[in-house]
Parts: sequence; structure tokens; C-alpha cells
Amino acid sequence: MLSKKNQKYFRDLLNERLAGLLDEATKTVSGMTDRGETFPDPTDRATLESERNFTLRIRDRERRLISKVKEALDRLDQGTFGICEECGEDISDKRLKARPVTTLCIKCKKEQENEENLKGL
Ligand SMILES: [Zn+2]
Repeated sequence: MLSKKNQKYFRDLLNERLAGLLDEATKTVSGMTDRGETFPDPTDRATLESERNFTLRIRDRERRLISKVKEALDRLDQGTFGICEECGEDISDKRLKARPVTTLCIKCKKEQENEENLKGL
């Protein structure tokens, strides 16, 4: 169970991260709309296309990160933050500080990775 002090620490950390992500997302969007629409050269058009795809991929990643951070804040509200969703054990402070959006303790995370590695073989 998290102490009051730690709850505040992680809430601040997550809010800060969320603000940063939202800021980035806004920049990405304005970067997309700021570009001129007239590209007479087909090579330029292709470049613009691939840049646009790249931007969309980044936005997708940002969106997923944003929802992860929001979920972590929800868990803080519900008092389930810092509890491994696999085994129900506490996730170490050290791990939470490095990766506050995590939902797995290091042991379960390793098991999950091992499984993924096995599937990859
Ligand atoms: Zn676990």
C-alpha cells in the first residue's frame, strides 16, 4: 500500500508526464496542419505522405501513452496503484519511479517477457 507521501509523489509525476504528452500531441497536430498543401513535385508529395504516416504513428503512440498515464491516475484514485495486476503483490517503489504506468511487478513482467520470447522462437 502506498503512503500518502508516495501517492502525492506519483500523482505529481503522472500529471507532469500527462501535461508533457498533451503538449507534445498538440505540437504534432499543429505541425501537421501548418504544412502547405501545394506540392507539385510527386517526389515531394511522396515525402509528405511518408512524413504524414510517420506523424500518425507517433500520434498513435502518444495516444496510447496518454491513456496509460490516465489509467495510472485512475488506479491512484481507486487505491490500486502500485499493485501488480497479475499476482496482487506490491510493485517496488524503485520500479514505479522508473515506470509509473506499469501494472506488473518485475517478476510478472519478466515472466511475460519470457513467454513472449518463447512465442517468438
Ligand atoms: Zn506480479
